[in-house]
Amino acid sequence: MQYDVIIIGAGPGGIFSAYELTRLKPEMRIAVFEAGHPLSKRHCPIDGEKIKTCIGCKSCSIMSGFGGAGAFSDGKYNITNDFGGTLYEYIGKAKALELMRYVDEINVRYGGAGTKLYSTAGTKFKKLCIQNNLHLLNASVRHLGTDINYVVLENLYAELREKVDFFFDTPVESVHVVEGGYQVRAKGQDYVCKDCVISVGRIGSKWMERVCKELDIPTKSNRVDIGVRVELPAEVFSHLTDELYESKIVYRTEKYGDLVRTFCMNPRGAVVNENTNGIITVNGHSYEDPARQTENTNFALLVAKHFSEPFKDSNGYGESIARLSNMLGGGVIVQRFGDLIRGRRSNADRMRDSFLTPTLNATPGDLSLVLPKRILDGIIEMIYALDKVAPGTANDDTLLYGVEVKFYNMEVAVNERLQTRYDGLYIIGDGSGITHSLSHASASGVHVARAIAEN
Ligand SMILES: Cc1cc2nc3c(=O)[nH]c(=O)nc-3n(C[C@H](O)[C@H](O)[C@H](O)COP(=O)(O)OP(=O)(O)OC[C@H]3O[C@@H](n4cnc5c(N)ncnc54)[C@H](O)[C@@H]3O)c2cc1C
Repeated sequence: MQYDVIIIGAGPGGIFSAYELTRLKPEMRIAVFEAGHPLSKRHCPIDGEKIKTCIGCKSCSIMSGFGGAGAFSDGKYNITNDFGGTLYEYIGKAKALELMRYVDEINVRYGGAGTKLYSTAGTKFKKLCIQNNLHLLNASVRHLGTDINYVVLENLYAELREKVDFFFDTPVESVHVVEGGYQVRAKGQDYVCKDCVISVGRIGSKWMERVCKELDIPTKSNRVDIGVRVELPAEVFSHLTDELYESKIVYRTEKYGDLVRTFCMNPRGAVVNENTNGIITVNGHSYEDPARQTENTNFALLVAKHFSEPFKDSNGYGESIARLSNMLGGGVIVQRFGDLIRGRRSNADRMRDSFLTPTLNATPGDLSLVLPKRILDGIIEMIYALDKVAPGTANDDTLLYGVEVKFYNMEVAVNERLQTRYDGLYIIGDGSGITHSLSHASASGVHVARAIAEN
């Protein structure tokens, strides 16, 4: 089978590459290979009753399939260069913002009209944060919500399926350089293309590493973020979330000088399991529809860990810590903040006596047996710092779920077109290690499509 362009991975990076290519070059023959299911067949079996925790499906419907890891996400598209990736280092700040705004326009046109665009511009909370040694990062955020995000993906798929060949449940095994292009092997079949866009996200990190080794594409990796997901009554953060929806706040710890930050804030949302390569960690999401909202707000507190030579396996370090929590708790561990600072585990009785109802069924336990002291100290310091701008954060009943790990794919060597050292082989999205968010991954897809169209 011969194509002009083969896209590997149908997450936001792959989808927006396909979208922009079909717009600019409708005559091109384009194929998208996706390891997971079509959107309509993506169902996580956890129902909270019969199946309470992850059963390790062959293809994880949370992370894989049309829409990628973003399909059941909260659909927060942050338009900013302050976080979410370093795309701007390759294409410039103005261009990166322009592409993120372009993606926003498309999301609005394909079902997101009526959703809200929040902004930190001119907010009084910036001053309040600085007065308490906290730093609020600048951003505009379009909150689609899990429900509208799904509608946008449905609409994009309805249009793309007419113009692009989709191969679902078809993981690509290998990519080889051949004369005039690339040979992509999947399910024992070979497909040939002139240009190849690889957008395999976090779940494809190990595969990506192998491909880079085989093709001798340089990579580097030295960072992992480790922490917990905090859950508390929505009222505690409502003054911030009502105005900003999501606030990215950074704190430098007094003890070690480490940076701790809030991440992925979900007002009136739910905490969920995440399965990365068989390891169960936590994440969170929320719905735009008030009927599906909860009484709690959740967000992650993450400590950034950068390693220096000779250690290279930062993701392996994060995985080992996550594995430890899986070993002790059979999955995710939950602990009341009051129990943590008193040095005792949370148990079923203490959880029952709590005023807060958890939104995820996790095993009550002791996070101090899982998280390294330095990381735990940073998280505790940050909780007390946040308590000054959102009193109630450091309440005894505040729940901490662990562990949340933000794995960073190794960063792949690409140029300003996001092209590797091979002509026509592009690596984009979270799989490139350059982006870590919906908006940056999508923007990288548009960028690469324009580069291919220009050629
Ligand atoms: C629960 C959850 C909530 C999130 N919430 C937010 C949020 O609100 N805002 C935000 O900015 N970010 C959020 N994120 C992160 C966001 O989803 C990712 O940054 C984004 O999806 C990255 O897009 P991508 O296209 O690079 O990769 P992905 O979305 O990971 O897509 C990669 C796709 O490639 C496929 N694939 C992998 N290997 C192969 C292979 N060998 N062959 C074929 N296909 C393959 C995978 O199955 C997958 O579908 C969330 C993530 C999760 C898990």
